[in-house]
Formats: sequence, C-alpha cells, structure tokens
Amino acid sequence: MTRVYNFSAGPACLPEWVLKKAADEMLDARQSGMSVMEMSHRSQEFQEILDTCKARLRRLMNIPENYEILFCQGGGTMQFSMVPLNLLKHSADIINTGQWTKKAIMEHKKLGEVHVIASSAEDNFTYIPKIKPEDLSQDSDYLYICENNTIYGTKYKELPPHPGKLLVADMSSCILSEPCDVSQYDLIFAGAQKNMGPAGVTIVIVKKDLIGNAKENIPSLLDYKTYADNDSMYNTPPCYSIYMVGLVLEWLEEQIGGLEEMEKLTHKRAKMLYDYIDSSKLYSNPVAKEDRSYTNIPFVTGSEELDKKFVKEAKEHGLVNLKGHRSVGGMRASLYNAMPVEGVEALIEFMKNFEKENLAHV
Ligand SMILES: *Cc1c(COP(=O)(O)O)cnc(C)c1O
Repeated sequence: MTRVYNFSAGPACLPEWVLKKAADEMLDARQSGMSVMEMSHRSQEFQEILDTCKARLRRLMNIPENYEILFCQGGGTMQFSMVPLNLLKHSADIINTGQWTKKAIMEHKKLGEVHVIASSAEDNFTYIPKIKPEDLSQDSDYLYICENNTIYGTKYKELPPHPGKLLVADMSSCILSEPCDVSQYDLIFAGAQKNMGPAGVTIVIVKKDLIGNAKENIPSLLDYKTYADNDSMYNTPPCYSIYMVGLVLEWLEEQIGGLEEMEKLTHKRAKMLYDYIDSSKLYSNPVAKEDRSYTNIPFVTGSEELDKKFVKEAKEHGLVNLKGHRSVGGMRASLYNAMPVEGVEALIEFMKNFEKENLAHV
C-alpha cells in the first residue's frame, strides 16, 4: 500500500490514526455487532457517538454553555441561506473576500437586503479589506465574514470591528487549526470536509438566544430551532460523518493534545512553505503577507505551461491535488490538520528539484 500526500482543498486528507480506527470498527463498532453505518440513529450506541462528539468539540474549542452545537447537512452552502433565514431582520453587512462570500451574497439577496461594505475583488481577492466601525450599515443585524478564503489563500488574523452588530463567520477551511475565542462570535459554521472529517455534515455553533427567531413559515429543516429542539435528530442525521468527525476530535484531543498544540503544527507547516516560496526564483504567492492563510497556499510559476507540468510531475511523485482553483490558476497546497510535516517537506523537496530543472526555461 502506498498512500499519497493529498493537498486537496476538500474533501481533504484525514489522519491515518482516524482511518485505521474507522477500519477497525468497520464491521463491529463498540460491540454492537454492526457498523456505525448500519445503526439506528435512535439507538443508544449512536446517541453516545453524538454526545461524545459534541462534548469533545465543546472542550476543544472551549465553547461556552450559552452556545448550541448543531449538526446540519447541505454543506457550507446551505448556511448561506440558513443564516439570513434565521438572523436577518433588517439587513446584513458582508465583506466580499472571494467565491464563498460571493455565493453568500447571492443567497442573501434572495431573502433580504445586503450591503457589501468592503471588497477586494478589484485585486483578485489577494488581501483582506480592513473596515472601520463607521463602514457598518445603520440598520444591519450582523456582519458576515469568511474567515479563511480557501480559494484565494487569505485569512483574517484579526476580527473586523462590529460594535452593536452580531458577527457571523464561515470557518469551513480554518476551524480547529488553532484555538478560537468562540465568545467573539455569534454564529460560526463549517462544513466538515476541509478540516474536520468527511463530507456530509456541517457544524453550526450559535448563541442560544439567537435560535427561535427565524422567518415565519420556512421549511423546518432550515430553522435552527428544529435542530436545537431535537438534538440535531429531527430527521436522520448524517450518522457516519458525525462518527468520523468524532474520531477526528478524539485524535485532536488525545493524540495531538488540543488546539494549542495543533496551532504550532499549523504555523510550522505554513511557515516552511511560505519561506521556501519567498526565497525561490521560480514560485510566487500573490497574497499580502499579513493576510496569508495558514491552511490554503496558492502559488504560481508565472507560466501556465510550467504550472501544468508541475502538477503532472508532482502527482508522479505522490504529491496529489495540487492544481489551483480555476479562478486563480497555478497551484494550491492545502495544509490542513491531517497533513503531516513530512508531507510539506516532501513537497518542498519536489519544488526545489523542479525549480532547478526548469528555471532556465522560464
Ligand atoms: C468549501 C467551502 C464552502 C462550501 O462548502 P460545501 O460544503 O461544498 O457547501 C463554503 N465556505 C468555505 C470557506 C469553503 O471552503
């Protein structure tokens, strides 16, 4: 068996420890005589899986008691609609930092008034626009941000000011990569398939007093209250994905030692790659240094042909899914929690050799 180093932006690599444990429990999970996939979601075994998963997330992220943890489906994308359906009364302020906020803006517009109060679109989203409190709209209910921009490789290092407004953050591609002060936010959501587990479940962390104010007559499954009142089991939840997220959280707590420890790895991986890119003559990263993402690192050679060759040859060396998003081009290395430091070393080693062989031809 040869496992590759998978730099995919999502669905992304998972820790080997997690995959092995899932394999061990595939036929007989916790002496139930069956796989988690075959269990009733109403069984005591599954209830325990869900409770443990929630409790681990609460411990790891230090989630205060006045926040609810919900397990939804429909990906991050469904939240682009659920957030306004549940929180938008007058209007929403959104900072446009790329594809994922553009889509959130599009869905918001169907449901209410939106103010795009800042945008880095004119520079192809290579930085995070800074705002001042006076940029916020008078009647907005909340400020909406995408904290880490998976496609463009930018990240908020500091939260924007939002006096008197709720703060909503899409953390799909940075959640669990470092400690997070949840009390600074009113609602956080994240699809699991970037940094938490396989696709199929989206985690929503929301202040309890914001639940139960949804627009009238909306479908039950779009109302956070339905999830909160039914322990996320109003209907069949994505049981296996929740189980896998639980294993990833177990790995984070017990094998890694929590988010402070993970943060060290997150910074180490990113620094290794940025330092090399910045010192190289062939590669460059277009993002403003202070706004660089730790988890998604785009880079280009300056030649489309060479970029193609890079992606192809990297794959032959067991370094896969390095092709950049179609809107940016070039390459992108996603360095999520499950990427071992050895994977980044192998990538840099390959990049050095590729540079040596190809620099003369640029
Ligand atoms: C991937 C991603 C999404 C969309 O997630 P889906 O689960 O495909 O709906 C939204 N926001 C961010 C930041 C993402 O990285």
